[in-house]
Amino acid sequence: MKLSKTLTNALNDPRLFRQYAYIDGKWTHGDAGREQAVIDPATGEALGHIPWLEPDQIRSAVDAAEAAFVHWRALRADERCERLLAWYDLLQANREDLATIMTLEQGKPLPDARGEVEYGASFVRWFAEEGKRAYGETIPSHIPNAALGTLKEPVGIAALITPWNFPLAMITRKAAAAMAAGCPVIVKPAGETPFSALALAELAERAGIPAGVFNVVLGEAAEVSKLLCAEERIKALSFTGSTRVGRLLLEQCAGTVKRVSLELGGNAPFIVGQDMDPKEAAYAAVAAKFQTAGQDCLAANRILVHESIHDAFVEQFAERMAALTVGNGLEPEIDLGPLIHRQAVEKAASIVDDAISQGANLVAGDQGQAPGENFFMPVLLTGVTPEMKVWREENFAPVAGITAYSDDDQVIEMANDTEYGLAAYIYTHDIRRIWKLLRALEYGMVAVNSVKMTGPPVPFGGVKQSGLGREGGITGIDEYLETKYYCLGALGSVSGS
Ligand code: NAP
Repeated sequence: MKLSKTLTNALNDPRLFRQYAYIDGKWTHGDAGREQAVIDPATGEALGHIPWLEPDQIRSAVDAAEAAFVHWRALRADERCERLLAWYDLLQANREDLATIMTLEQGKPLPDARGEVEYGASFVRWFAEEGKRAYGETIPSHIPNAALGTLKEPVGIAALITPWNFPLAMITRKAAAAMAAGCPVIVKPAGETPFSALALAELAERAGIPAGVFNVVLGEAAEVSKLLCAEERIKALSFTGSTRVGRLLLEQCAGTVKRVSLELGGNAPFIVGQDMDPKEAAYAAVAAKFQTAGQDCLAANRILVHESIHDAFVEQFAERMAALTVGNGLEPEIDLGPLIHRQAVEKAASIVDDAISQGANLVAGDQGQAPGENFFMPVLLTGVTPEMKVWREENFAPVAGITAYSDDDQVIEMANDTEYGLAAYIYTHDIRRIWKLLRALEYGMVAVNSVKMTGPPVPFGGVKQSGLGREGGITGIDEYLETKYYCLGALGSVSGS
């Protein structure tokens, strides 16, 4: 094993840094010696290495989960709750180390990483409690002398495939729901950010989560996913990532008719009404655009501003954007860390070039100021039109595109002009406009006069090609529960009451 000095020295508890897969409660290396380096995007240095597992090893994770399912599902909901709450406590107690691991492998500023640990942990606590409320129903019977109802039962083993932009919370939002429902999980984290997932496994073990209930497999993504999708013993697949890969996995799960939940890409419109104070709206738009350096499925991707306040809004946006600091996320006072890798920087540059070549104005964004090769300075474009990539694609970079509109009907059409339907933002204080837009926008989530919208109590998810199903909230656990209907007949009649 190659030890990363950077990581082990940076942690209070170096045992949270693991360079193995985690199957059946055991740290596992790859049988054929295949491995992958994990790179700090801020410095380009290798933080460590992870093994790529062989097909038999992936199958052994399914064997382990299958064996664990028998005992895990048989526990009472309050017993599972206790173990999940112990996991939650450990996540909180190790917040600083988890945040350090995340900043090193993902690049986001340390305060944002701390925020993600809190956010990720909050799903563990939420679902620990929700598991105790997985109620079935009593159904008024239409059949003589019968009692009708439903039972909620765990669906079975769940495979969870997650992205690199939220390396911890995208796992806990799925795993905690599945585990609270009584399902063991097999997590395949993004190759760029496996160490957060492996630290979660270490803490799950310390929390008393039994072997085989929380497994982390590593390997070549397409190969591992194909095996997981084709495996009949896996009953549910939950994926967060790009729409392109989501479509592929949906197809691959057809053969075994799995329960599939997909949290895919977004192309969020940020709509500013003519009644808004341009400064208030511009500051909110900057906050909605540049979190995680724009690498966020909720990032404002198209900023649509009423023509009457457009120029004042652009001025305020540019001023606020100019104050953002870009640098290594471990340094203090940094707003934007690096992008995840060089290809992301190249994609961002090509989106900006495409917009300029089609007539957009580059208001700000001098890449000569970038502090390293994986960094991308915030860019502001105006005059963005629907033909441009910056409008059509989820740019996943700190590139803000602004377009002027003239009336509510036009902005509704503009906002819905995309295959995506994850989240939208509306800024206006006009209640009639709010209601009209809220009803007309084809999005799974709409935030009105707020940049913050997520958290454990709400149903997170998209419509159109942004996904299937919801995570969080009181329905999040349903992704991992089957409804079993029962008809209890020949009971005899109840009389005289
Ligand atoms: P991605 O390329 O789709 O990768 C996500 C996961 O899929 C990773 O574990 C990746 O593994 C794996 N993968 C990649 N190619 C695969 C293939 N051919 N077959 C099977 N699995 C494959 O997405 P990403 O770049 O990591 O994440 C960014 C995307 O996630 C954006 O579109 C963003 O909007 C979306 N996202 C959505 C939400 C939401 O809640 N809706 C939240 C966060 C992110 P490797 O890393 O090992 O290749």
